[in-house]
Amino acid sequence: LAYYLKTNQIKGKVIVLDANPGPISKGPGFTAAYNDLYKDYIQYIPQAEVTAIDYAKKEVKTPLGEFKFDLANIIPPMKAGEIVRTAALGDRWANVRLPTFLSERDDRVYIIGDVIGNVPYPKSGQVAYNDGKIIAEHIAQRIAGKRPDEIANPLPDNICYSFVSSEESIWVSHKHNWDEAARQIRQQSTVDNNRSKPNGALALEWARGLWGDMFGPGA
Ligand SMILES: Cc1cc2nc3c(=O)[nH]c(=O)nc-3n(C[C@H](O)[C@H](O)[C@H](O)COP(=O)(O)OP(=O)(O)OC[C@H]3O[C@@H](n4cnc5c(N)ncnc54)[C@H](O)[C@@H]3O)c2cc1C
Repeated sequence: LAYYLKTNQIKGKVIVLDANPGPISKGPGFTAAYNDLYKDYIQYIPQAEVTAIDYAKKEVKTPLGEFKFDLANIIPPMKAGEIVRTAALGDRWANVRLPTFLSERDDRVYIIGDVIGNVPYPKSGQVAYNDGKIIAEHIAQRIAGKRPDEIANPLPDNICYSFVSSEESIWVSHKHNWDEAARQIRQQSTVDNNRSKPNGALALEWARGLWGDMFGPGA
């Protein structure tokens, strides 16, 4: 949005009120972009939990004071869709039997993507996509007669690109391994907070790869 305002020379400002102490993913990359590219267009305010909204006055309240808005995009605390609670699979999120994607509460049900609660996987499109492929293979093997404990349990990797302008991107990636002795998932992450055009080209390549895989060649 700030890029759009700047490029089209539209008078306006994006005020980001974040309850966190800083951007939680690719923090230095985002902060550098805010300061270097969008100084006049973005004001990033950490530790600013939204406590109330006065729509009549078009005002958001935080412990740091009130902020006026023309247009507000309020992101409430996130939780799984209602179907998870209706099906008694979890409360805020639904847990799985690690290292599988089987529901902790019902092994006829697979839980994938953002909905899973007890994993360190980032809530990302890439993880949801990988989860889908992993469980498709799992289901195929169960149909072929294998028991769940006879089937391998690969874990999803992640990569998440963020464009900070029309051409430049930053990214973070995660590898996950199952530590059988500790019965825990180990996570290794790598980040590139230096925005660049080559990273932008990689981001587009990533997107085309996924679209091609999901929707067929030429998608
Ligand atoms: C602003 C934003 C930017 C993001 N940027 C990135 C990014 O750059 N890279 C990245 O990898 N990820 C990104 N993500 C995260 C990514 O979008 C999610 O992690 C991903 O979409 C999760 O996929 P999912 O299938 O688990 O859930 P969802 O995409 O939420 O899909 C769940 C679907 O289930 C449907 N549904 C719910 N209840 C029912 C029901 N009872 N019956 C039928 N359907 C139902 C919903 O309508 C929804 O379509 C971003 C997310 C946001 C919000």
